[in-house]
Amino acid sequence: MIKLDRNDYELVAGLEVHIQLNTNSKAFNRDLNKFGSEPNTNISAITLAHPGTLPKVNKAQIEKALMLALATNSQINKSNQFDRKNYFYPDLPKGYQITQDRHPICTGGYITFESDGKKKTIRLHHTHMEEDAGKSIHDLSDNYTMLDYNRAGTPLLEMVTEPDLRSGTEVHDFMAAVQKMVKYLGISDGNMEEGSMRCDCNVSVRKKGATEYGERCEIKNVNSKKFAKQAVEYEFERQMQMIEKGIKFTKQTLNFNPDTGVTAALRSKEDAHDYRYFPDPDLPPLVLSDTFIEGVKNNLPLLPSEYIQLLMSEYGLSSYDAEVLTQEKEYADYFLGLAKEYSKYNDLSKLIINKVIPIANETGKNIGENLISSEKIFAFLNIIDEGKVSTSAAYQTLFPAMIENQDDNLLSIAQRLNILQSDDQSFILDLVEKIINENKVEYDKYKKGNKALVGFFMGQAMKSSQGKADPKVLKEQLLKKLNE
Ligand code: ADP
Ligand code: MG
Repeated sequence: MIKLDRNDYELVAGLEVHIQLNTNSKAFNRDLNKFGSEPNTNISAITLAHPGTLPKVNKAQIEKALMLALATNSQINKSNQFDRKNYFYPDLPKGYQITQDRHPICTGGYITFESDGKKKTIRLHHTHMEEDAGKSIHDLSDNYTMLDYNRAGTPLLEMVTEPDLRSGTEVHDFMAAVQKMVKYLGISDGNMEEGSMRCDCNVSVRKKGATEYGERCEIKNVNSKKFAKQAVEYEFERQMQMIEKGIKFTKQTLNFNPDTGVTAALRSKEDAHDYRYFPDPDLPPLVLSDTFIEGVKNNLPLLPSEYIQLLMSEYGLSSYDAEVLTQEKEYADYFLGLAKEYSKYNDLSKLIINKVIPIANETGKNIGENLISSEKIFAFLNIIDEGKVSTSAAYQTLFPAMIENQDDNLLSIAQRLNILQSDDQSFILDLVEKIINENKVEYDKYKKGNKALVGFFMGQAMKSSQGKADPKVLKEQLLKKLNE
């Protein structure tokens, strides 16, 4: 390894993101589009490409592609063409993949997201529709490769960015932004572990200030945001070393091994595929009408930034709360659902952020009625509003107890925990006297002018009452007694 000044170099990355769409059926026939089924159960003669079978366009794929186009401010191309990308591989029964080469459904557009505290905008080159291949499984048998064709024909969108990304962290955060967007649009579950989203990372390195891009490598099929970041950072380092050593390299296709953190060559340009693209004669050109596009536009769900605006302007939440509640669409929808019946929105938001979301994360359950009934949530907020339990005691002890005893009445749980608040005057007067008698030294100091000791007496009294004294009444009585 030679020492180099990393500040002299700049990383340049562009991504090709594959998004599996959550349509009911496959891209070009009626077979179920479903992850996790028994192998080779969602396959008909059409998926298997028996002679004579013909593909048919799935309207749902077009709609979902348009939703992404609209959400990314892309230009929609009303005239679409499907092409054949020809290659031989056992998991590709037709011997070609149906894709869009020359006339993709949309071109241009951009995605803005936050990375390292800064706003970043990545331009999109285009997004096209295609279909997934089946799956070859190499590790089930010593002698054979197993083939599962369930995935064959799954509708995909491929989003291709301009080479605008400049660090591994930006690659990670961009993928997170795409993931969030497809979930909010409801067009894909965005689950990278299950392969619903994958990306190819194109990486090159150039001297800072250079106007031309350097020669690039393409890391294929990365299936996690973390791996994408690692792979890109590894490539940055490797290519910088090569440039420093004066080693020229040609465009390469690489694999990233998450176990070793290292990229390795899959194939070089010499044996690069020639796909012989041509328009698929089985699928006529697809022309989208303005009415169809308008229809999709009118039904477009809210995006994260629009949710944030709604939560801040209509519900008066802070930008922090709005940000946290929109981390997942289900959080925001949960808040909006409950807010229909409870109007102290800030209290509701605090409860969801500080208690409900952490419990959902700990238990791995989805947020909603199955986690805690809305009835329980309202009962909990009301018991605080009515001053029966202090906010701190409610959050610290009542909430966990309520989760553990979901069938019990909230008031009886509070009683059992001995945290029901008392504003009973005689109880509070006794308490104030007791505290003053027990802390004569501090009392004298207070009398000599150290007014800050009020806080000390309040603390002692609250502790002694085990949180049961209503702080407002207590403070009133305490001040009265101290200033007598
Ligand atoms: P191909 O079809 O060979 O994969 P494309 O021109 O379609 O090539 O580019 C694919 C991706 O590579 C795009 O995301 C683009 O931004 C990215 N890319 C192109 N040139 C470079 C480069 N010099 N460095 C990094 N990324 C690049
Ligand atoms: Mg490519």
